Amino acid sequence: EGLVSAWATDAERDAEVSVRPKRLADFIAQHRVRDQLELLLKSAMRRGSPPDHILLSGPPGLGKTTLANIVAAELGSGIRITSGPAIERSGDLAAILTSLTEGDVLFIDEIHRIAKPAEELLYSAMEDFRVDVVVGKGPGATAIPLDVEPFTLVGATTRSGLLTGPMRDRFGFVAHLDFYSPADLEALLQRSARILGVPITDDAAAEVAGRSRGTPRIANRLLRRVRDFAEVRADGVVTLETARAALQVYDVDDLGLDRLDRGVLTALVDLFRGGPVGLSTLAVAVGEQPDTVEEVCEPFLVRAGLLARTPRGRVATEAAWRHLGRTPPPGSFG
Ligand code: ATP
Repeated sequence: EGLVSAWATDAERDAEVSVRPKRLADFIAQHRVRDQLELLLKSAMRRGSPPDHILLSGPPGLGKTTLANIVAAELGSGIRITSGPAIERSGDLAAILTSLTEGDVLFIDEIHRIAKPAEELLYSAMEDFRVDVVVGKGPGATAIPLDVEPFTLVGATTRSGLLTGPMRDRFGFVAHLDFYSPADLEALLQRSARILGVPITDDAAAEVAGRSRGTPRIANRLLRRVRDFAEVRADGVVTLETARAALQVYDVDDLGLDRLDRGVLTALVDLFRGGPVGLSTLAVAVGEQPDTVEEVCEPFLVRAGLLARTPRGRVATEAAWRHLGRTPPPGSFG
């Protein structure tokens, strides 16, 4: 389950560490972001002051956490890692900020989920490197100003639209990560395979890349599963044939759809003649919660051009019919 999900469990994050690039030069693709970051970091180092605060936005699994670690490594500084949801009270954040040493990187994942009072504290830390910590309650409360060592905030968000304006304005550098091309993922897979000591042929790497939904995390995960299969059912070498057989066992098809994705499309085509049909009706037909269908399946189905969301409901595209091996009813697509 979840083999093509872009989100990771904690256990998977541990498994990812060995293949995580440590320096900018090892970070595959995303050349524009890489170039811009390199300039930002090099010029800051030349001046001997911390670079502007950095906001990384984009879907999960594309390398935001990796880039935050790379920023610290390139600067030769320490990194503190936390997340928006983990900062419940502004005191939590004040404690972190005042414990930073000069030049540290503070990484806040899911920064759009930070609580409002903490967000306001963060503004002053980002802007003036100082925070006002409020001690006591009611009329006797006093604000004690505390200095914060110059630091660089790296914020990551999957939903940059949810960031408040003032928050966004305090980042001097904003980078948007995009889905990776199959060729980029192929290069990424070759690199990971080398590190893991997995022999893989070029055509096998291309095959796995094509099923990875543009996402490094999914590519690395499929590689680990394909390696398992090659070790147990073959001689350990990942060939095109082994890769295909493995992905069949794991139920990941040639577009990277899993069982639920295909279930949604099949219901849409076979039960509702391609739609339009409402989300909740579609969800009942596949035995899932509407939220799951909408948030887990649909984003990729839409991006892959297989499903369209219209005001009248969900509609299967011509590509969806063909992908399932069905012929669309005559005249339904022009
Ligand atoms: P999340 O938002 O879920 O934390 P993320 O965008 O921070 O996701 P990472 O954890 O940085 O994603 O990356 C996921 C996996 O993909 C890691 O194993 C990472 O090493 C690998 N990866 C991501 N981008 C690249 C890249 N450009 N080159 C090589 N490996 C990459």
